[in-house]
Amino acid sequence: MIYADMVLVNGNILTMNPSKPLAQAIAVKDDKIVEVSTDAEIRPWIGKHTKILDLKKRTVVPGLIDTHIHIEEFGRTMAEINLRDVRSIKEMQEKLKKCVQRAPKESWVLGHGWDQDRLKEKRYPTRWDLDKFSPNNPVLFTRVCGHVCVLNSKALELIGVTREAVPPFGGQIDKDAKTSEPTGILRENAMDLAWKAVPEPSEEELTKACGLACQKAVESGLTSVHWLISSQAEILVIQKLRAENRLPIRVYIMIPVDFLNHLTDLGLRTGFGDDMVKIGGVKILADGSLGARTAALAEPYDDDPSTKGMSLYSQEQLDALVAKAHKAGLQLAIHAIGDQAVGMVLTALEKALKKEPKRRYRHRVEHASVLNERLIQRMKKLGVMATVQPHFVISDFWVVDRVGLKRARWVYPFKTLIQKSVLIAGSSDCPVEPISPLLGIYAAVARKAFADEGISVDEALCLYTVNAAYASFEENIKGSIEVGKLADFVVLSHDPCKVLPDKIRDIEVEMTIVGGKMMYAKSPMEKA
Ligand SMILES: [Zn+2]
Repeated sequence: MIYADMVLVNGNILTMNPSKPLAQAIAVKDDKIVEVSTDAEIRPWIGKHTKILDLKKRTVVPGLIDTHIHIEEFGRTMAEINLRDVRSIKEMQEKLKKCVQRAPKESWVLGHGWDQDRLKEKRYPTRWDLDKFSPNNPVLFTRVCGHVCVLNSKALELIGVTREAVPPFGGQIDKDAKTSEPTGILRENAMDLAWKAVPEPSEEELTKACGLACQKAVESGLTSVHWLISSQAEILVIQKLRAENRLPIRVYIMIPVDFLNHLTDLGLRTGFGDDMVKIGGVKILADGSLGARTAALAEPYDDDPSTKGMSLYSQEQLDALVAKAHKAGLQLAIHAIGDQAVGMVLTALEKALKKEPKRRYRHRVEHASVLNERLIQRMKKLGVMATVQPHFVISDFWVVDRVGLKRARWVYPFKTLIQKSVLIAGSSDCPVEPISPLLGIYAAVARKAFADEGISVDEALCLYTVNAAYASFEENIKGSIEVGKLADFVVLSHDPCKVLPDKIRDIEVEMTIVGGKMMYAKSPMEKA
């Protein structure tokens, strides 16, 4: 007789398997599920060495999956000044002042998370706001969306941005209308000028940051992440963490399009790797963000009729990149927030699919924020998924100002997408939004803005389990609690289906199990 290594009993198990949605017990052997049943039925699996975990009626869901997360940035921002809660320029200055006092001479001071709409002054911060408190240390504060930043004068001087400076393609250097002096605000590709000057973290610092971020992910109930890397260094870190047994979650690596030629030259395809680390898709950035008015809209912004945002590629450029990746067997994950950008992405995908219709593909539009009926139809017809971030519904409280009521109705229309059979998968876009998938589920269910687009708890769970597994071609090994699948689960303090929608955000992750191993336990008693 074969016995299980571990059994979980006396639970309220939401399996996400429609043919057997509820269970009491799970048996695990090695890293896989061998039985899902009642407590009585699980007994034959219990041998002398089987570990028994009494769930005490608590709820278990499949391991949650985040399909769009910047692990390295998240790890690094943990060491930066957090400006998310700042409500005035003065508060920003106070945080800066404190940090500069401790910072080594001339070292860069980094911060992130500000949002001009949340500032009392309702304007962008400027270099002059920062200069007063940091005349000698260069300062770089990134906006909450990551698409805009503000520098102080010292930083502008170091990177050589003056009145005469010309922005790179797809970027913008804000200048004072009267004096033409740069205000300190850099947008989109112009931010690279600054990032190039910030010293790269050492391998040790990077490993530490990523390790910390992965640990936070497990504590939040994540067992798999689609990790958007931005450099070769991150792939090295992933391998290092894995080799040293310090990688607590499964990783699907999303690779920037800058590396497309390397991938195709080597013949690397989506799915190469194993259950812990896999090559994922190719990430392309088609436009910016709504918050910064750089998302490409078909019609001008409501609160700034002088702009429609910016497309970062021409249609021809986009077509060529998409065709190349598609032909090479690589999944595409294209960031498109404005309706104009989404339309361009779909056009590029249509063309690529027409040329190579036989390739298996599950291409994704990342964010897909501003939609309309026509775009949703096109997505459905193409079988293109949307990788959405429900928490944006809460953070983008200004969305009606940006795009007006008529278009705002079509921003993050989750319910309509589901009704129209467009597959949507859940994610955080952390550090842009908080990492917790439960907060994402809460935002999708307890939706206040355009409440008709709110979805059920079951649908929201689907976003972070079944659909997210599909998004990485892994629906046969994860996403639900079924015999033969990987033993990835999360134990929750409460059943999200049984609490009031507003209480979902208070649900705590009590344990996270990855491949049958307890990777996190809130109570140390249960860890053993
Ligand atoms: Zn992102």
